[in-house]
Amino acid sequence: MENNRGKVFFVGAGPGDPELITVKGLKCIQSSDVIVYDRLANPELLNMARKDAEFIYCGKQPNHHSIQQEEINEIIALKALEGKIVTRLKGGDPCVFGRVGEEAEKLVEHGVAFEIIPGITAGIAAPAYAGIPVTHRKVASTFAMVTGHLCQDDTISPDKWRALATGIDTIAFYMGMGNSTYLCNQLIHYGRNPETPVAVVSWGTTEDQRTIISTLNKLEKTLQEQNMPNPAIILVGDVVHLRERLSWFAENSRD
Ligand code: SAH
Repeated sequence: MENNRGKVFFVGAGPGDPELITVKGLKCIQSSDVIVYDRLANPELLNMARKDAEFIYCGKQPNHHSIQQEEINEIIALKALEGKIVTRLKGGDPCVFGRVGEEAEKLVEHGVAFEIIPGITAGIAAPAYAGIPVTHRKVASTFAMVTGHLCQDDTISPDKWRALATGIDTIAFYMGMGNSTYLCNQLIHYGRNPETPVAVVSWGTTEDQRTIISTLNKLEKTLQEQNMPNPAIILVGDVVHLRERLSWFAENSRD
């Protein structure tokens, strides 16, 4: 029975540009029987799979959950229990706001083997393609990845806001576009300089990449003037100024 069990590979697809997947991740896609993928994994990567592979879409749209997370966990486990090799392809890095914990726990329950293949996360890659290194020897020595999608259970406590506002040089907010004014106001409220520069990078590393530059106290107005579609990273910190000199990637439409 044990021998019939398949295996699951949680693979980071990278942030958008399909060439940013790892060699190991690509090998998993090429050799799997089943590919379970979500909205942010570049569809071009699916073309690399075997012709006879089975594809299962588990994507969610913002505010429109197509398949429940529990169902996804179940599908992955069942396919592996049928003896299949499964690639669970996730945008960016599977362990950064990627729910890999929940899905892997289900596999442990079922006794299914798995591996985690890291990927390049959007909070580092989208700024890099906008000419913004998230750390810099003279400008930023601390960096945090923070969810901007604050559900009831998952709010950031005042202590954490204070620490973020005053102790972290560069902050990358994921899933923050619906909440951007609140996020900026919280940082100001807890002690960050209102003039701190902010970059918003939409569809980073893809041909649709767009970047806008603002400050904590002006981001709301800037976003009213510019339509910045999801997915987007909101990057806060003095490193944003480096874009003036380090911008290298030709964007869709310049700011
Ligand atoms: N596991 C992913 C993050 C999933 S959460 C990773 O490591 O990158 C989804 C959020 O990621 C989006 O709301 C957005 O904030 C960010 N994101 C994903 N792809 C992006 C891209 N190409 N450009 C900018 N932000 C992106």
